[in-house]
Amino acid sequence: MSGPSHLPERRPGESSRRLLAYLIVTAAYFAVGAVSLVVYPAGSGLAGIWPASGIAVAAVLLLGPQASLAVLAGDLLVGLYAGLALAPALVSALAGAGESLLAWYLLTRVHPIDMRLERVRDVAAFIGLGVVLNAVLCFVVRYLLAANGQTTEFIAAAALGHGLGVLIVTPVVLSWRVQPVPAPFSVELLLLLLATVLINVATFSTSLLTPGSPLLYAVYLVVLWAALRFGPRETSAVLLVTALFAMWAAGRRSGPFLLASPSEALSSLGVFLLVSAATALLLAAAVREKRASDLRVAESESVHRTLIEQMGEGVVMIDADGRLTYISDRFCEICARQREGLMGVRLADIVREADREAIEAALQHSVIDSDTRIETVLRQPSGQALAVSLALRRLDDAQDGKAVTLAMLSDVTERRRAEELARLHLQQLAHMGRLKSMDEMAIAMAHEITQPLTAIMSYTQAGRRLLSDGHADDPALAEALAGANGEARRARAIVHRIRDFVQNRPARPVTIEAAFLVREAIRFAEPEARQHGVELRLAPGAPSCSVHADPIQIQQVLLNLVRNAVEAIAAAACPRRSVTLRVRLLEVENEVEFSVEDSGPGLPASHVERVFEPFFTTKEDGVGIGLALCHSIVDAHGGSIRAEPHPDGGAVFLFSLPVIAHATRAHA
Ligand code: ADP
Repeated sequence: MSGPSHLPERRPGESSRRLLAYLIVTAAYFAVGAVSLVVYPAGSGLAGIWPASGIAVAAVLLLGPQASLAVLAGDLLVGLYAGLALAPALVSALAGAGESLLAWYLLTRVHPIDMRLERVRDVAAFIGLGVVLNAVLCFVVRYLLAANGQTTEFIAAAALGHGLGVLIVTPVVLSWRVQPVPAPFSVELLLLLLATVLINVATFSTSLLTPGSPLLYAVYLVVLWAALRFGPRETSAVLLVTALFAMWAAGRRSGPFLLASPSEALSSLGVFLLVSAATALLLAAAVREKRASDLRVAESESVHRTLIEQMGEGVVMIDADGRLTYISDRFCEICARQREGLMGVRLADIVREADREAIEAALQHSVIDSDTRIETVLRQPSGQALAVSLALRRLDDAQDGKAVTLAMLSDVTERRRAEELARLHLQQLAHMGRLKSMDEMAIAMAHEITQPLTAIMSYTQAGRRLLSDGHADDPALAEALAGANGEARRARAIVHRIRDFVQNRPARPVTIEAAFLVREAIRFAEPEARQHGVELRLAPGAPSCSVHADPIQIQQVLLNLVRNAVEAIAAAACPRRSVTLRVRLLEVENEVEFSVEDSGPGLPASHVERVFEPFFTTKEDGVGIGLALCHSIVDAHGGSIRAEPHPDGGAVFLFSLPVIAHATRAHA
């Protein structure tokens, strides 16, 4: 509920209901005013608490500014009842209605309050703008009118009485009207009621307390009880009961406030009630606010807890000493341990020994607003090892200025397994791809080996001839042997290259120069290209930079691209028959780009995106896995691959890999 400015919509019968409400206000104002006049008869020179002003303020706050007319009518009747002539009675009634209108304006327009008075700021605004200003206005108006030649002291007492009327009566009407359902009946409530009546009877209606006795402050006890244990409604009710008893005692000229003169007694009673009521209402609101905020904290804690427990990750809070202070159920589940066994344990102690230092360091260096991630292995009591990932995040420095770290633990065993499977899969596929390439290149490779073997044969025949002719000392013999040796080495290198290429082995990434990989690939592909009359060349200006890669797999990618290019040129019987390999350093991206450009027929635009799809082929005997495999290999190396048409016709295939190190000098 935001305040009284939200007037209800007009419904049928609304106006008659409102009229009835205004009549009730007038009647209540008159009745309460008339009773007050019995206690402080007009002309007696006495002025005490004036509860009718509380009814007036409550009426305008609940019913709107029009209710001030009902107040005016009630006040006029009281004036006439008190024996005033019509004119002064009307002036006094106009003043009363004006006071209530001012309170309405201040508490709904200037500083709108929530009428349940459950927040300290609402009570403070009510006391400041509703009570104090009301009393001040009352004093000013009456002082200016100075009706019946009243003394300043009397006018001040009357103004205090008006303010008190608002302070004591308005909260009762507001809080019970806005929240009419009584608190659940309890023994404590009954005891509070009993105590209120008993203490008030003892204080005000018996002669137990001598005038000025400090024991009268016993009333405070019940007021505080109501404020601390109940709420603004019950507190305002206890205050009203106390005020009624006090008024009654004042009427009977009895009770602890009977000091030297009746007016002195009334003003000390007024101050007593003012202080008690203001303190109690503020305290009740503070207690309510504290309870509401505790409730909000508890609610948000329970929401967070529920969210945490529903997360796939296990969550723990770690104190400045690295010990676990909060442990979620999921965390216990991942560790397969009981919470009791984990509480107070150091996080580093539940991971494998090799990672303990790293965990301690990560905890030390965890920062606010960003996760420090660390992967480790956790051993369950059963002995089972789990691959886990920890995300550490420092929370705001908690109390005592000591840091608290939040750790989220996820079981990545399954992910690791899947990654390992994918890696093995790729390894197998790559191997099959190489075998297939080798199968297709066998003739060219055989021819490649035949060359040095033929040369060896020629060298050895020449050597034999020299020996049989008795030219053992001829330097030509040594030359022939050296030649044979050189060719044998060449043949062995080719065989080694083939062996390495077709071997099935796990990927072994090493730091290797990019241009070297390209030169090796050219060496491998050259025999086949030559057979098709295609020239292979490495473009000048290859930078000196290294990548972290498995050399065989990257050569496989390059070989695939080159062989596709050669095939495309051969199939289209192109007049220009060349394939250019280029290496470029992309400094901004910190990547090295390899490209294979051919002078073949090129790629139709519709094929550019599709060529990397598995089983996409336009060849009669094609399988369509070569480029898909290239894509997977480059991906696994943290790079990317694409195809595009060459501006001079032909196709360009480009792939890039992250650079590990590079020199600024470029060489051919
Ligand atoms: P395959 O060689 O078995 O067809 P790839 O995956 O190696 O499988 O190639 C897929 C398709 O990409 C080829 O069928 C061809 O249509 C196209 N392609 C690949 N390289 C080139 C190129 N250099 N020029 C033109 N088309 C190419």
